Amino acid sequence: MRNNIVAGNWKMNKTMSETEALVTELAAMLPNTKAEVMVAPAFVNLAGAVGSLSNSTIEVIAQNMYFAESGAYTGEISADMLLNIGVSTVIIGHSERRAYFGETDEILAKKVRAALQKNMRVMFCFGEELGDRKSGNHFKVVESQLQNALFSLDANAWPHLILAYEPVWAIGTGETASPEQAQEMHGFIRETLAQKYGSGIANAVSILYGGSVKPSNAAEIFSKPDVDGGLIGGASLVANDFIAIIKAI
Ligand code: PEP
Repeated sequence: MRNNIVAGNWKMNKTMSETEALVTELAAMLPNTKAEVMVAPAFVNLAGAVGSLSNSTIEVIAQNMYFAESGAYTGEISADMLLNIGVSTVIIGHSERRAYFGETDEILAKKVRAALQKNMRVMFCFGEELGDRKSGNHFKVVESQLQNALFSLDANAWPHLILAYEPVWAIGTGETASPEQAQEMHGFIRETLAQKYGSGIANAVSILYGGSVKPSNAAEIFSKPDVDGGLIGGASLVANDFIAIIKAI
């Protein structure tokens, strides 16, 4: 269902005690909101965060997972491991996974399928690099990322998918897509989905924007009709900032 969602991606930040402190602060400060609020701590801190947030509506989600069920994949984490500790939503395709860990569209397609087969919800990230935008190829790049990783899925997969459009040039750079640029791309994504799966599915998918969202720009970005919330990196590590962004939706 198309919900408003604000999710914090904590990346490789915060020790166990720091994670505990931040989730406790967020739970205490959480405003009354219809938006779904999610946080994605590092793997080792997931179970602790799930425990600390057991009485909160804040959902704990994972930053990544591997596509195999189990076996000799040193360092990897499976869907069953996440489900077993109470984590049922996973981010797949973050640009840092693509850039630093060689995750291709093909690998991401396998991860998406593996998560969906376990009835997990997937937050799929994608977005163009600066060069793509400068050369005017950004729509083509985004369309091919969607096609390669998601368009072989059946229509019944889509209620379990959340999309996060994150232009790589805006992630962690302080540079944000303008609200108009975000709306233009989100409208294009919804139209591309409508062409492939029909407008019912396209209009029911939450499409989040990610890339240097902060308290000062969140409200304007979230006010755009095809922007259903945000995936927040840096600003989600500071309780006051993350709460201000949640209030902006
Ligand atoms: C992200 O990594 O998903 C992200 C959007 O980061 P930041 O908000 O720091 O740009």
